[in-house]
Amino acid sequence: MKSMISLAALAASLVSSPLMAQTTPTPDMHIAPERALAAHGTPTTAEAEAFVAAVEKDLFAYSIEASQVGWVNANFVTEDTDAMAARIGAIGTEKSVKYALEAARYARAPGLNAVTKRKLDILRTGIVLPAPTTPGAATELNEIATKLSSQYARGKGTLKGQPIAGSDIEEAMGTNRNPAELAEMWTSWHTNVGTPMKDDYAKMVGIANQGAKELGFADTGAMWRSNYDMPADEFAATTEKLWQQVKPLYDELHTFTRTKLNEKYGDSVQAKTGPIRADLLGNMWAQEWGNIYELVAPPGAGDLGFDTTELLKAKGYDALKMVKAGEGFFSSLGFEPLPATFYSRSLFTKPADREVQCHASAWDIDNKDDIRIKMCIKVNGDDFTTIHHELGHNYYQRAYKEQSYLHLNGANDGFHEAIGDAIALSITPEYLVQVGLLDRAQVPSADKDVGLLLRQAMDKVAFLPFGLLVDRWRWDVLSGKTAPANYNTAWTALRREYQGIMPPSARPADAFDPGAKYHIPGNTPYTRYFLARILQFQFYKAACDEAGWKGPLHRCSFYGNKDVGKKLNDMLELGASKPWPDALQAFTGTREMDGTAMVEYFRPLMTWLKAQNKGKPKGW
Ligand SMILES: [Zn+2]
Repeated sequence: MKSMISLAALAASLVSSPLMAQTTPTPDMHIAPERALAAHGTPTTAEAEAFVAAVEKDLFAYSIEASQVGWVNANFVTEDTDAMAARIGAIGTEKSVKYALEAARYARAPGLNAVTKRKLDILRTGIVLPAPTTPGAATELNEIATKLSSQYARGKGTLKGQPIAGSDIEEAMGTNRNPAELAEMWTSWHTNVGTPMKDDYAKMVGIANQGAKELGFADTGAMWRSNYDMPADEFAATTEKLWQQVKPLYDELHTFTRTKLNEKYGDSVQAKTGPIRADLLGNMWAQEWGNIYELVAPPGAGDLGFDTTELLKAKGYDALKMVKAGEGFFSSLGFEPLPATFYSRSLFTKPADREVQCHASAWDIDNKDDIRIKMCIKVNGDDFTTIHHELGHNYYQRAYKEQSYLHLNGANDGFHEAIGDAIALSITPEYLVQVGLLDRAQVPSADKDVGLLLRQAMDKVAFLPFGLLVDRWRWDVLSGKTAPANYNTAWTALRREYQGIMPPSARPADAFDPGAKYHIPGNTPYTRYFLARILQFQFYKAACDEAGWKGPLHRCSFYGNKDVGKKLNDMLELGASKPWPDALQAFTGTREMDGTAMVEYFRPLMTWLKAQNKGKPKGW
């Protein structure tokens, strides 16, 4: 629900647009050096540097126009602004494809300096779905990707035999507690949405891999994995290391949740052993379980004794005052106040007279100071958290604004989301006291912590194996290790292996269940979400250590600590200019992503879960 739009349509197209595959290079780009370059000659260092400079100038200008169009489209949704946004997006697609191919060529120049080489790599690896130059291939790839996306968007399942569309079925999976109806929704959604995509998906894989080879990669998955400043295999090993660190926590949560589901539904629906039925976890993909918190909440411990929504209302907060409070957090760390334009140009409340995209997002219109959020704020605790999260994006964007265009980004694609979430983790009862929302006497005692942590874990810990396995599946598909005939069995096997879940009934031979998850037909790499979950706790712990916090990690707030702010800024201002371990080191002192901070945060819960799970069958 919290997305970020920073490098505007370009970033959007580099990162997520299915229109990506479009087109071979157009002849009228205003890049002088490439004209002087023979198609297969070896470029010189000077030519490569001139190319990068020209590209950065062109994309900087383009990104501002694209951001402006995107902003207007999101704030005034009409057929016309949709058309304008599609038009500018297509231009961005053409540019990114053309520049990637050229960057692959310039990367062969001998003796390139590290900065130029890094920028060429960013251009070369920035495309999600690369089209080969074979005549007709780009068009075909684009058509397939668009078709898959719109199939997903139009997808429907059924509930009691009646058709039910995507967002409604998602919501119903969170609130419905009837196992037969849950199974019907799960099965119909996966079958109706996924199955028709399978052949096209296989075709798309073949074409994109041709494109990846032209850019110098073994396959498209290897290309995705090469975005992390280390060899592709080493990156895969890094994610495995992180998973093994947090897996014991997931295993205990799994056992505990399975026991509770067994108590609720009985053996015939959920057995005491083995995998959990995927449709019982409150989410279509069983990726976050917070919706069934009521089924697992410890009696009494779930009641914190206060409610942030009520505190906000009692103190007369409105949307503006909530945003000011978020700004206050960053100011307390020593960051400059937000510019006046932030307040005059942002969207804080849902307008009565027009359609807007209410999905919360953070924007950087001019790559300098024109930062904004777009949000339909309601006075409640969730939106208070989301504001802190979105502002995390804005402060990151502003911190790296002096970097050159291709470095205006997070250190890797997990960083941007993790910053906002690390800030949001700081919204502890202690913080609410410090900003005058909560009386100190109301701070909940430690015996309430388990409920608080369990609620967090049902979303943040439950997500981890899913965050990992989506690309595990895709990497094997893209490398050819998993053949089309095995697409679904491989998916179901990974879901069982990592998440410990299984479909509510046997899946037919022609099923394509991965297609029923948006990011598969939408071609959005997924490992970033896994990384962001891990990194947010690592950032949070680094800040708490810097602040000299001595208590249990989950109770820490680093509000008001200027030393934390200074160190945080040291990392943020690097943007993507250095390999991510350099950025990580600037803030945390370590060069490795590390899951132990997350383990420490949830330690009181882990102790409690182990006690609850005593004598219960473990694993699946
Ligand atoms: Zn975000």
